[in-house]
Amino acid sequence: MNTQELLQTILKSNELPTLPTVASQLITLTSREDTTLADIGNLVAQDIAISSKILKVSNSAFYSFPQQIGSIKQAVSILGINAVRSLVLSFSFLTIKGNKQESRFDFKKFWERSLASAVAARLILENVKGADTEQIFISGLLQNLGELILAKIFPEKYDQVIAAVEDKQYDLLGAEESIFGLNHTIVGTETAKSWGFPDILIEPILHHHNPAGYKGKDPAVQTTVRAVYLSDLLVNILFSEKPEKYHQQFRKEASKLLHLTSEEIENILEQVHIKFKEAGTYFNLNIKSAKSVQEILQEANIKLGLINLDYDQMNKQLILAKINLENLTKELEDKNKFLDNLANLDGLTGVFNHRYFQSSLEQEISRCMRNNSTISLLMLDIDFFKKFNDTYGHLVGDFVLTEFAATLKDNVRKYDIVARYGGEEFIVILPETNIDDAMNVAEKLRRAIEEAAFDDKRECYNVTASFGVSTCTPAMIDDFDKNTLISQADQALYVAKEKGRNKVIAYTNKKKWYSF
Ligand code: GH3
Ligand code: MG
Ligand code: MG
Repeated sequence: MNTQELLQTILKSNELPTLPTVASQLITLTSREDTTLADIGNLVAQDIAISSKILKVSNSAFYSFPQQIGSIKQAVSILGINAVRSLVLSFSFLTIKGNKQESRFDFKKFWERSLASAVAARLILENVKGADTEQIFISGLLQNLGELILAKIFPEKYDQVIAAVEDKQYDLLGAEESIFGLNHTIVGTETAKSWGFPDILIEPILHHHNPAGYKGKDPAVQTTVRAVYLSDLLVNILFSEKPEKYHQQFRKEASKLLHLTSEEIENILEQVHIKFKEAGTYFNLNIKSAKSVQEILQEANIKLGLINLDYDQMNKQLILAKINLENLTKELEDKNKFLDNLANLDGLTGVFNHRYFQSSLEQEISRCMRNNSTISLLMLDIDFFKKFNDTYGHLVGDFVLTEFAATLKDNVRKYDIVARYGGEEFIVILPETNIDDAMNVAEKLRRAIEEAAFDDKRECYNVTASFGVSTCTPAMIDDFDKNTLISQADQALYVAKEKGRNKVIAYTNKKKWYSF
C-alpha cells in the first residue's frame, strides 16, 4: 500500500473517530465571515453536555474571571469565539474512546500527554505579546492526533511501533515511517483536513516536530507552530526517559524561536506541572501525581550519577552519604537536647526551673556518695523585694529578677547549677564543694549583687540578697537526703534575714550559725 492508499484507507475506516455534530458544525460556522457571536452561542447551546462542561471551565480558575458566567451566550461574548471553539473541540477530542481490544497503546497516557501539551502550549504563549492563548490550547491538545488514529485503526501494527521505540531501534517518527511508510504528523493533518479544520489548527499538527517546515507567511500560524513544538519538548521533560536532554533543548529553542527570557522560561518550568494537574480536574482526567520539572531533573541527575560511578567512587559516595546522615542525626540530637532544656528552664529568668533543680540535686547527691566528695547548696532570697515592686512596679521587678539571675550565673563555675526556687528565691547547687569554699562562693555572689547596678536604660536599680548555705560531707551521708540539705539551707537563710539581711549564713551540724 502506498502512502496515498493508506491515507484513503484511514479516512474511510469505521474506526476513524467522528467529531460530535456540534463540533463539526462549529468548525464550518467559524470559517464563515458572516457568523455572529449569537450564531455560535445558539449552536453550542444545543449540546447540553458540552455546554455544561464549557460553563464549568469558564467559571473555574482556568480562566479566573471575576464575574460569574451564567450562559453559553455570555461565555461566547466574554471568552470569544476562538476560546469557545477551542473548548468545544477539546471536550470532543477528549471523549474519543480507546479500543476495547488489547493493544499496547496506552490511551490514558496519551490523553494525559496531550492535555499536558495543551497546558504547556498555553503557558508558553502567555509570554508572547499579542498571541492568541485560547486557540493554542486545542492546537497543543491535537498535535499528536495522528498517533491516536494509527493506534485505533491499526492496533497490531502500532504495537510494533511501540516495540521498536522501546528497543531503541528508532525514535517514534522513524518507527512509524518504517512500519507504515508515513508518520503521525501526516495522518493527523489529513484527518484534521477531513474534519474541515482551519489552517491555524492544521499547521501545528503537521510541523510540531519540525517548526522550520512551516513556510507560510502568517505570523499567527508561525507562532502557534513554534509554541506547539516547544510544548512537545516541555512535555518530554515530564514524560520521557531523557528529561535532561529535552530540558536543555527546550531552554535553547524557547529563547531562539519565541525570544523568551530565562526568567520567563524558569516561570514556565515551575508552573507547568501545577497547571497540568489543575487542567486534569477541569477536563475530567484524573492525574495522580504530577512531579515538578525540578524534581524530575533531580531524580534523573541522581540516576545518572550512579550509572557513571565506578565501584570505588560509589563506595565513597555511600560513605559520604553516611557521614551526612550522621551529621544530621547529631544535629537532630542537639536540637532535641535544646528543646528538652527549654522545658527545664524558667520562662522569665532563663536559669533552671524548680523541677529541674529537684531532679538534679538528687543526681548530684548520689554522685557525691559514689565519689566520696562533698556537695553544698546555696539558697538565696532578694531582700525587701516586695517593697521594690511596690516602688518601681512589677515590670521593673521582672527586669531585675532576670538580671539578678544572670549575675548569679556569671559568677559560678560551669558545672554549678543555678535555679529559680520560686518567686524571688534562687538556689545554687555546688558539686564537689566543701563548706568553706561554698561560703566563699556565696560571699562572692552577695558582693557581686550588692555592687551590681541593673540598668534598664531609664534608671539603675540596686538590690541585695541574703544567703543560706548547707553542706553534705561523706561522713554525714548515711542519714542524709536532699530534703535535709534544702531544709538546712532554708534555715540558714532565715537566720541571715533575721540578722539584718544582705548576709551569708551557713548551717553547721553543731547548730552554730557560721558566718563571715
Ligand atoms: P524579704 O527581705 O523578707 O525577703 O522581703 P521580701 O519583700 O523580698 O519578701 P516577701 O516574701 O514578702 O515578698 C516577695 C516579693 O517578691 C513579693 C512578690 O511580689 C515578689 N515577686 C515574687 N515573684 C516575682 C516575680 O516573678 N516578678 C516580680 N516582679 N516580683 C516577684
Ligand atoms: Mg525576699
Ligand atoms: Mg521571699
